[in-house]
Amino acid sequence: MHQQLGRWKIHYSHLREITIFNRGKVDPHTGKVESFTVCLECGSWIRQRSVQEEDEERAGYRSSSADHLYSCSARSDIESPHVQMVDLKVQLQGDAVEIEVPPEIVARNNFEGWVETFQQALKLGLQLEFYIGPREIESFVETFQEDGRERKTVVLYDTMPGGTGYLRKFFENLPQIAMRALHHLQNDTCATACYSCLKEFWNQHMHGLLNKQLVSHELEELALAKVNITPSEPQLLTGPSAT
Ligand SMILES: [Zn+2]
Ligand SMILES: [Zn+2]
Repeated sequence: MHQQLGRWKIHYSHLREITIFNRGKVDPHTGKVESFTVCLECGSWIRQRSVQEEDEERAGYRSSSADHLYSCSARSDIESPHVQMVDLKVQLQGDAVEIEVPPEIVARNNFEGWVETFQQALKLGLQLEFYIGPREIESFVETFQEDGRERKTVVLYDTMPGGTGYLRKFFENLPQIAMRALHHLQNDTCATACYSCLKEFWNQHMHGLLNKQLVSHELEELALAKVNITPSEPQLLTGPSAT
């Protein structure tokens, strides 16, 4: 199903397959990603080493084998081709709502702050409206190319296998949820964000980006829009419905 709320195009899908990649830990100071390093022979996670530690290993002052299983041939070879950086992957099937971000918002200088705040504000609305826990609905930003232009979509997904049904309610009541979040943010006394509105223990790494002022206009726009849901075209599918 999809709907158009003003300039916003929003899709809902049931039992959609979502693949999440974890490319590693982001250093909050440098923004650099520290990848996961894994030995493909023995399956062990190889911890990051400092330059000094690597030098010591090469010189034989320090054991390079500690992270591998005892039988692994890479234990004695610090340049082993089996030791590689990998992305971790999780695949899940559940409900998803995709919100296409209007291109003029993507082009803003403060888009990064806007999009993090927007996602958190929608989750706040969901929590206030349906009393759901902070991690039941998660989200990410998808980037794709359309007519040579970079487009962004905010994807909200259900972390429960099979879905909890909250995202369907979210899709059907988005103006109300946006209104709920907007009122909460307007009545909150903080200047940008605090623990009673957008900050949570789980989103600590983005606390610096959250600023409720950035999204109030868009929340208001969604809050005032009129719901007009279009069912998807019937699809020739034999399995579970993908709409
Ligand atoms: Zn190994
Ligand atoms: Zn606040």
